[in-house]
Amino acid sequence: MKAFLGVLTALSIPLLILNMLGGIVSGIWLAILGEWGAIGLGILSLAFATFLLAIALIPSLLLAAPAAYCAEKGKTFGLVCFGALSSLYILAIVTLWCCGILFLFVKDATANSLIPRLIWSYGVATGPWAYMASKDQGPQGEGFASTLATFLAELAYLVILLLVILTPITLFGAIKVFGGFMLVALVLQVSFAVIIYKEWKRVVHQSDELDQYGWAEATGQQAATFGEDETTVEDDWRLTGQEDYLNGVTLIHRKYRQNKDNPEWDHDHCEFCMAKFCLRVGEGSLQEGYATEDEYYWICCECFDSFKDRFGWKVIERMDDTEPRSAGEGQTRT
Ligand SMILES: [Zn+2]
Repeated sequence: MKAFLGVLTALSIPLLILNMLGGIVSGIWLAILGEWGAIGLGILSLAFATFLLAIALIPSLLLAAPAAYCAEKGKTFGLVCFGALSSLYILAIVTLWCCGILFLFVKDATANSLIPRLIWSYGVATGPWAYMASKDQGPQGEGFASTLATFLAELAYLVILLLVILTPITLFGAIKVFGGFMLVALVLQVSFAVIIYKEWKRVVHQSDELDQYGWAEATGQQAATFGEDETTVEDDWRLTGQEDYLNGVTLIHRKYRQNKDNPEWDHDHCEFCMAKFCLRVGEGSLQEGYATEDEYYWICCECFDSFKDRFGWKVIERMDDTEPRSAGEGQTRT
């Protein structure tokens, strides 16, 4: 999977060079021919294309949500269906955009300006996608789907350029050829999403403790497609509505101690990740954390770091206070 991504990246380099070189050469060429309209259109699209395409891609996010839900519930069939629909929508937008740009640049072309117009349009059509895919990249191969789609789109566009020069291809014909390439992208995207998901499922079965976390990761991988720039904290599996009672509260950073109202109660769980706070040391239990002033809610240090900005907590340092609470007086830590 990683190797495949590496090969894709390596293959993308000649395309990238063509992109830059083609842009410069065709830009100058068009300027010499006095094709200012085509140049202006290209620059205009450079400025607004990513924004417009991001809006056009919003419905794919709506489809990604049920896909994530199915992943969470372990419904592979649903995951594949919604995931494929989401990918299909994105790839259809890629096809329409690229063929639309091609048409826009070719329709007014003369025999002289056809070739520079075609090369110029290559950058206009594929540039925004390459840019969005580059923003998608992550250490776990998160941007794989978009890298793959961009690569195939660039390849398809080159093939169509040759067809336009060498054959009397129609717009509809171009859409069919481009769509064919995108269909390959779809099949590969869905296959890889399923492979990643199955791998996660296997890992999860090996370690029950990682259960929730594993699903969340698999879901994140599946949703890593065009237009979703970064995974936000909203996606974090630990968030289950704590905003309702923990937003902006004052937290006390202190050693864990028993709640005076529950003398029988010897442990608590982190409000976010369920990590265990316990008076008894060992078995991975925590002895320090952040508690609300009534010491009813406890938050582990890791979750505190993850969410402190989001929740805007005020913190009082009381790590030196090791006194048990009044009801627990005389109790010793063992
Ligand atoms: Zn925690």
